[in-house]
Formats: sequence, structure tokens, C-alpha cells
Amino acid sequence: MLEATHAQYLSQLVGVENFYTDPAHLQAYAYDATRERHLPDGVIFPRNEEDVRQILAYCNEHKIIIVPRGAGSGFTGGALSAHGGLILSLEKHFDRILEIDTKNLIARVQPGVINKHFQNEVEKRGLFYPPDPASQDQSTLGGNVSENAGGMRAAKYGITKDYVMALRAILPNGDVIRAGKKTIKDVAGFNVAGILIASEGCLAVITEITLKLLAKPKLKQSAMGVFATIEEAMEAVYKSMASGVTPVAMEFLDNLSIRAVEQRFSKGLPVDAGAILITQVDGSVVEQITWQLDQIEKHFRDNGCIDFRIAQNSQQEEDLWFARRNASQSISIYGKKKLNEDVTVPRASLPALLKKVGEISQAYNLPIPCFGHTGDGNVHVNIMLEDPATQLEKGQEAMEEIFKCAIALEGTLSGEHGIGLSKAKFMPLAFSPQEMELFRNIKKAFDPNNILNPYKMGL
Ligand SMILES: Cc1cc2nc3c(=O)[nH]c(=O)nc-3n(C[C@H](O)[C@H](O)[C@H](O)COP(=O)(O)OP(=O)(O)OC[C@H]3O[C@@H](n4cnc5c(N)ncnc54)[C@H](O)[C@@H]3O)c2cc1C
Repeated sequence: MLEATHAQYLSQLVGVENFYTDPAHLQAYAYDATRERHLPDGVIFPRNEEDVRQILAYCNEHKIIIVPRGAGSGFTGGALSAHGGLILSLEKHFDRILEIDTKNLIARVQPGVINKHFQNEVEKRGLFYPPDPASQDQSTLGGNVSENAGGMRAAKYGITKDYVMALRAILPNGDVIRAGKKTIKDVAGFNVAGILIASEGCLAVITEITLKLLAKPKLKQSAMGVFATIEEAMEAVYKSMASGVTPVAMEFLDNLSIRAVEQRFSKGLPVDAGAILITQVDGSVVEQITWQLDQIEKHFRDNGCIDFRIAQNSQQEEDLWFARRNASQSISIYGKKKLNEDVTVPRASLPALLKKVGEISQAYNLPIPCFGHTGDGNVHVNIMLEDPATQLEKGQEAMEEIFKCAIALEGTLSGEHGIGLSKAKFMPLAFSPQEMELFRNIKKAFDPNNILNPYKMGL
């Protein structure tokens, strides 16, 4: 509960229309894409960077918790006020694209700009911003930077961090910092922008982002390969990618996921297949596209592909991607609740990871459909619970085993969704006590009073 004097000060600072403590507004900012709910004590919408500065300085002085928030589409509770305090929302007044510099291929944006809106605007100028999280219609670029979001195009184009050139941010004491430069080369000083990327709102509030852009490729084409076993499909992924082809996307569905989509939508999918791979290549001339698809087909067939289809028009392209896009919702046929994580391993370790997931599924007697971004080693594992009340503990134990396996294979707890609240307790599986201490010291250097999104990320 916020003291009346604080509420009065903040309300006067930004105006009553930008500061809420009424129950309806608190409810509206109590959620993200997890199913957890945490009511904040207030929601504040800074109108500009000076407001952010003053809000933070005031809250720092009075030790009031601040939780930065973009669109609230996070999967790990990063934008939830689990320990009270204020939600600082960037969605209302920080939604402008400030500059698209077509000479230097750079854009400057405010953090509340929606990813897809930004992509559309740069594409109108023949340019291209590749990071495309599946939440691109809702999620903000500030949230994307803070979670280091990735998407289907990561296999070829990388993830958000590969496009962040510079950031402006406000420290909890109200100081403005500029991190990074508009230049491709910049080796002066520590890489503070690198520390802020994926910092999940725990270190500073990002108020401006400078992003790298590319020229938009003129052509793209997709194909699908059907495999009898998941091992063959995974071998085909890394062998084709080691052959010199870098597909834009290389996605997979396992047998349980294929069956789920087929049961829901009757699309004629190969329900007996161990796995399907869906891939896309791009380029600027037809020969480039043909060569890449030829290479992929060769390596797929050499590794047990029993059917290879190339989309010949936009409708077929749409049909090939249908199964992947609808996998997440379809697997609900296996249980009322899913524990869904996004472990990531080096590509060539995918067969070992998926074998282990199969064994864990059997040992715990829980269905675990898997699908995801094989091109970058990022698998969405979904532990399905038919009766969450009695199976939750068992499901969490199974997930911990999967985390341990990913880490043993030199992978990570999360390739996309971050740590937040949901995975905070697993951080010591992935990091030594010394590494955790280093993280805490970094947090202290930015935020000595621990007001900014505290207790997240296991800190
Ligand atoms: C259907 C669906 C599909 C998804 N698909 C993907 C996917 O393909 N790839 C992927 O990577 N993620 C995916 N996500 C997760 C989520 O969309 C991303 O993590 C996204 O980057 C979050 O953006 P947001 O604006 O919603 O941020 P929020 O959820 O509001 O916040 C996320 C974190 O960022 C911090 N934050 C936000 N803005 C700022 C700021 N300006 N300064 C400092 N900290 C800030 C918050 O404190 C919080 O810790 C998906 C989510 C959903 C619901």
C-alpha cells in the first residue's frame, strides 16, 4: 500500500490521468503471460524521460519498488509486481519511432513501440528488422531488449542483442546513461548496453533504443521435410546447416505436436512421422533460393527424410507454416495445464536433449510434446498436466531434470523467455555461487537500494 504523501507527490508529478491506484487499473496491470497475478500499489505512466528521472529519483529516496513494464507479454513474470510497489508503464507515452536513418541503416525508437509496427514501418522503406518474436503484434521493443527476445528468424539473423547499437537509460537514482554508439565499431569503455540487454528491468529503465537495420531480402521460399524419427530430423538440421546453407528458419514439431495439430485442424499432416522440419530460405536472386533448397533437400534426404515438399505459392507457404504456428495451442489436448520452458543447447546436442526428454516423459508418465527453433537449438518443451492439483510437483521435478540435462549439454535455462520470477530458483543450477555473487554485485552497482524490479532473476 502506497503512503498517501507518495501517491499525492507522484500524481502531481505526472498528472492524475497518468497515475492510478484504483482497483480496476491495478487489476489491469497485475498480469503477464504467466498465470500469476500480483496487484501493484499503483501504476504510473511517465510522459517523457524527465518524468522517468524524477519518478525513479523519488522512489529511490523513499525506497519504493518500481517495476518497468512494456506490453506485459512476458512468460516469466518480469513485469509483475510480486513485492508490491509501482508498475512504471512505457506503453502510453513512449511509443514513437524517432528516426529511421536510411543512409546509415539505423533507427532510434522509444521503448514502447510495438515490434510489428516497427517492422512494418522499416519495411515500407525497403529495410528489415529481423527479430520476430511470436508476440510481435503485442510486445514492445523495450520488452524485447530487456528479455533479449528471439524469433523464428534467429537461425540466420540472430536475436535482439545483434541489433541493439545503443541505449539511453535511467538509473534508479535518476541519472541518465548512454550506452553504445551509432557506429558499427566501438571499443571504448565497458559494454554497458550489453549488460542492459536481457537485464529484465532490474538495472535501469530504458528510454531510447538505437537499432541496426538491414536491407530487406527480395525473395523467400519455404519447404517441409518429414522424418520417421526425431533423431534423423535433428541430424538433418545440423548437417544441412553445417553444409554452408543458413536458412532463415528451421523449425520442428515432434510426433505428439504433429498429432495434436492434426486432431484439432485436420490438415492432412503425417501423424505417423517422428518429426517434421519446416524451413525457410531467403535471398535476392532465384538461383540463391534454388541452391539453398537443393542443399537442404539433399541433406534432409541423406538423413532419412521420407517426403520433401517445397511451397510453390503463398497459399502453400501459409499451409506449410500452419502446423508450427498452431502447435502451442493444439497441444492443450494433452492436459489442462502446461509447464512450458524454452531450454536451448548447441544445435548438435539436440538429439541428446530430445532423447532425454523422451526418457523423462516415460519415467514421470507425463506427455511432453516438443516443438521449436531447431535452427538455433531452442526447444519449447511442454510438460502437460491433466490434473494440475495432483501433478504439479511431479511436473516441476521433471522440468528440473530437463534443465539439468540442458545445462549438462552446455546449454541454457532459457533461450528466449528469460528468468523473471518463474525460473529464479533454478539459477544456481546454471551458475556457480561466484557467478551469482557477481550478478548481485552488478545489480548493486546499478541499484544499491534494490528498488528496481527486486528479487527477480534469482538476485
Ligand atoms: C503468445 C506469446 C508468444 C511469445 N513468443 C515469443 C518468442 O517467440 N520469442 C521471445 O523471445 N519471446 C516470446 N514471448 C515472450 C514475450 O513476448 C517477450 O519476452 C517480449 O520481449 C516481452 O515484451 P513486453 O513488451 O511484453 O515486455 P513485458 O512483459 O512488459 O516486460 C518484460 C521484462 O522487460 C522489462 N522491461 C520492459 N520494458 C522495459 C524498459 N523500457 N526498461 C527496462 N525494463 C523493461 C520488464 O520489467 C520485464 O522484466 C511470447 C509471449 C507470448 C505471450
